[in-house]
Amino acid sequence: MGKNGKLKIIPLGGLGEVGKNMTAYEFQNQILVVDAGIMFPKNDMLGIDYIIPDYEYLRQKADKVVGIVITHGHEDHIGAIHHLLDDVAAPVYATRLTRGLIEVKLARNNATSKAQLNTVEAGGSVEIGPFKVEFFHICHSIPDAVGLGITTPAGLVVHMSDFKFDHTPVDGWPTDYAKLAEFSKRGVDLLLSDSTNAERPGWTPSEMVIGPALDKVFTDAPGRVIVATFASLISRIQQVADAAAKHGRKMALAGSSMVDNVKIARKLGYLNIRDDVLVPLEQALQMQNHKVVLMCTGSQGEPSSIVGRLSAGTNRQFDLKPDDTVVLSSHPIPGNEETISKTINRLLRRGANVIYDALAPVHVSGHASQEEQKLLINMVKPTHFMPIHGELRQLKRHGMLAVELGIPEENVIVVENGQTVELSGGRIRMGDRIPGGYVFVDGQSIGDVDYDIMRERGKLARNGIFLIDISVDKLDGRLLHDPEIITRGFVSPEDAEEMIPEVRRRIMEAVNGGGWDNEKDIVNTVKSYLYEETKRRPMVLVTLSKA
Ligand SMILES: [Zn+2]
Ligand SMILES: [Zn+2]
Repeated sequence: MGKNGKLKIIPLGGLGEVGKNMTAYEFQNQILVVDAGIMFPKNDMLGIDYIIPDYEYLRQKADKVVGIVITHGHEDHIGAIHHLLDDVAAPVYATRLTRGLIEVKLARNNATSKAQLNTVEAGGSVEIGPFKVEFFHICHSIPDAVGLGITTPAGLVVHMSDFKFDHTPVDGWPTDYAKLAEFSKRGVDLLLSDSTNAERPGWTPSEMVIGPALDKVFTDAPGRVIVATFASLISRIQQVADAAAKHGRKMALAGSSMVDNVKIARKLGYLNIRDDVLVPLEQALQMQNHKVVLMCTGSQGEPSSIVGRLSAGTNRQFDLKPDDTVVLSSHPIPGNEETISKTINRLLRRGANVIYDALAPVHVSGHASQEEQKLLINMVKPTHFMPIHGELRQLKRHGMLAVELGIPEENVIVVENGQTVELSGGRIRMGDRIPGGYVFVDGQSIGDVDYDIMRERGKLARNGIFLIDISVDKLDGRLLHDPEIITRGFVSPEDAEEMIPEVRRRIMEAVNGGGWDNEKDIVNTVKSYLYEETKRRPMVLVTLSKA
């Protein structure tokens, strides 16, 4: 079949990082968006709630966007949907469970009215503008995840979102291998595939291995079991519910995102939990300890999550008890290792027993390892290969795997966010570069916080602040009274007590001696003295009034 026109592939998020997945496909000036995820902030991003992709490109072409397809209900794929819909009023396509989770998210953000949601089915297909999109089931750690076959006159692209080849998944629904083989027969011009575990040899274990591990935890736990995971890890919630039923414990959910997600997943039939197993949290807190399992968020040690608050002793509704067993059932997102480690130590210090994946298989990855990635490439036999969903080292490694399998090196495209790629005449070439950075979401504000603010917050957090208030006579420029000095987070009050008189003396000398032009000179005088004394650089602020 002849190939016509040019398909532009636009990676807006998830390439060169973990999280905020978003890819756009553009053909004849019409755009299809795949996924709209968020990324969790790293340790040094102070005060940031989460990060969304920089989709300025889509905002500028908002009327050209013909559809938004969401592959599955994890936060790194649906988390930014309400922000995107603010700027781009295109119809959304998702499977039943994914749609249900999107509805929960929109309702929580008062954004329901903006969305036109369409339900699609694995095995089905939809024409969206010039794009024919075929949905096929893929196995992951959430039910109802799909991969996409995207056909345009320029060729066939297979967009493999997060997947693993699990032969015994929790929901009994393995990946649609037949569809992959069929694509292969038709001829796939480009395969995009999940690189999360590209550095991991072998096969990712089946979700089935978690059952026995949870059994052991439930048998050994003398008191309550508290399981922390992501609110969207629906398969894990099912496994904990099964273990609870088996061991005669009641399960309760803590945290509104967990409650909402479970409600919708049960309603749609993707979670099978008996009515008598699930009890309200208030009831569970009144029951005997060994009869209870609590599910909550916070497996990444986030300070604002329930497990984060339990570790700090600041959770309002309930506190840790000495015979609690806390299970962290998820893998650390890169960058979170330190926070998780601190949280584990705090939980232990507060008397809880803590089980995490280094101690027992209470978590398995939802992503394919090398052998599964190779199997996919061999099954699909694409002409070109483009790794997605991973840090640069994972993308590179994934690209190397493809080369090992015989895909010519020049047909393997490793790019990061913002580097567009073009498919035309059955060939791939690099396109133009567009923005592909971070947009920080901080409370109600989107994009107002930039790197400068982040640097300031970092400085304040690391070195504290030194505030100086001076007022001078507007005629002769001499001080009207002694400078007032306040310091916070810089040195101990005793040390400050010792330094402040000298700081005051130097300011008076500079101001009354006329050796200054503006506040900046005072700031520098104080900064250099403080640095000499402490080898630290707090933020120094001077307020000046003239009277
Ligand atoms: Zn996922
Ligand atoms: Zn993902």
